[in-house]
Amino acid sequence: MKFGYVSCLPETPLITRFVEELNNGRLMGTKCEKCGAKYLPPRAHCKCGSADIKWYEAPRRGKILTYTPVVVPPESMSKYAPYMVAVVKLEDKTRLLAQLTGVTLNMLRVGMLVQVITRRVGADRIAYEFKLV
Ligand SMILES: [Zn+2]
Repeated sequence: MKFGYVSCLPETPLITRFVEELNNGRLMGTKCEKCGAKYLPPRAHCKCGSADIKWYEAPRRGKILTYTPVVVPPESMSKYAPYMVAVVKLEDKTRLLAQLTGVTLNMLRVGMLVQVITRRVGADRIAYEFKLV
């Protein structure tokens, strides 16, 4: 299993585990044991320089901080355009950027509650996206 609509994350052991967890219904990020910074998608090294990281399960709900339609996407996503993307503040205060599906621009407002869902993309890919609650 690979992540995303196209290969946007490197196929490291960290990302392999992230994708396996996602495929089993868990949205997992990493947290720095030294400074507490959280990364979703996960990272093996923190911005503080530490590689002492631990996995954590991220909350699946949050509120829209900002959103925008993408009308001129990268070529690999052109068949999905126009589509919406949003930055969501999850319940643990971390922020996540993803596609927001099943909506149109005029139905959206900042602060709306969304949940993170996973979507199989073709036979061997999985992605996460937001859906209004
Ligand atoms: Zn750190």
